[in-house]
Amino acid sequence: MTISVDPVRNLPSSTLRPWIAATAVLLLLLPGCGGTPKQIRLHGEALGTFYAITVADPPANLSESDVRKLADNTLDRINVLMSTYREDSELSRFNRHEDTSPFLLSPETYAVFSIAGEISEKSGGAFDITVGPLVNAWGFGPDPLRDPPTEEQIRELLSHQGYEKLRFLENYYVAKEDPKIYCDLSAVAKGYAVDAIAEAFEAAGLSRYMIEVGGELRVAGKNDKGQRWGLGIEKPLVGRRELETVVFLEKESLATSGDYRNSYELGGKRISHTIDPATGHPVQHALASVSVIHPSCAYADGYATALMVLGPEKGLALAEKEKLAVMMLVHDEKEGGFQRITTPAFDAYLTGE
Ligand code: ADP
Ligand code: MG
Repeated sequence: MTISVDPVRNLPSSTLRPWIAATAVLLLLLPGCGGTPKQIRLHGEALGTFYAITVADPPANLSESDVRKLADNTLDRINVLMSTYREDSELSRFNRHEDTSPFLLSPETYAVFSIAGEISEKSGGAFDITVGPLVNAWGFGPDPLRDPPTEEQIRELLSHQGYEKLRFLENYYVAKEDPKIYCDLSAVAKGYAVDAIAEAFEAAGLSRYMIEVGGELRVAGKNDKGQRWGLGIEKPLVGRRELETVVFLEKESLATSGDYRNSYELGGKRISHTIDPATGHPVQHALASVSVIHPSCAYADGYATALMVLGPEKGLALAEKEKLAVMMLVHDEKEGGFQRITTPAFDAYLTGE
């Protein structure tokens, strides 16, 4: 474990405002050394956020529009399956199924439910997709916030929450033990979408790419300079962008969760979109951001949120137990900046060699 202090000025919380999710990670575009690099670069919007794709040395038979189609088709499919913002999505139909009888999910949604269930178990319930009604009550769901929920409303919503109330049955069926269970897959669906695009790329013969959806990334092969992909992780600052560190990846995913992006201020308190399922309240600790490197982007995405809920101490304990590659940036008012905590598995990605 490495702990070092980074003396960065902490901006007052009054400057907090929602940030576009895709700002946590900067792709480092190193200057080329002669000749135009053969690569395709794409940007677009999907799943309520932005995506960016770079493909190095694409096969001659694949055009830019072919690559875009592979990405857009995958993103559209996942949106139709897993969005809580679409009433006709599979997830919205599951949420309206206020019944304990088994509900048939698509293999992909079932896979995301399963990954979420595993991270819930490992994190002792800090990660919990059934926290959806509280996410909505705090104004981070499809409807805008009217008033924050009262303690009584929170207690009522908590009584219909709990990942262990989801029963995983055979053949992609899932049953609710409490008919009021409502799930939100936002903490893992973007990462899953990145994995799904990677799969579509591999099937089409692409082997060197960087895929980013809303700040969650996955790379494969070498970049157009024949090097590992250098991915910059930003400091968790509001209103300005500064690089904290760079990691060099070749076949992994990187996800970052932060309290500085999707949040608002209420009564002098920062209200984060990460909800602690134990209290029903937005997390209120010193952890400013968590970055996770993992072979799967869905797991990296989910674990980043899980660690964000657990906070610095319990989060680090889980990271060490699961041997996760993790960097945490912890608010440190005394130092006027952030304390940086990394696991040894994370440190291994800090050099480009
Ligand atoms: P971040 O990059 O900060 O992790 P994500 O979009 O990946 O952002 O995840 C945050 C979203 O996850 C929230 O907007 C909410 O929909 C959902 N969420 C909030 N708290 C939890 C939780 N404890 N477990 C699972 N999902 C959660
Ligand atoms: Mg996440």
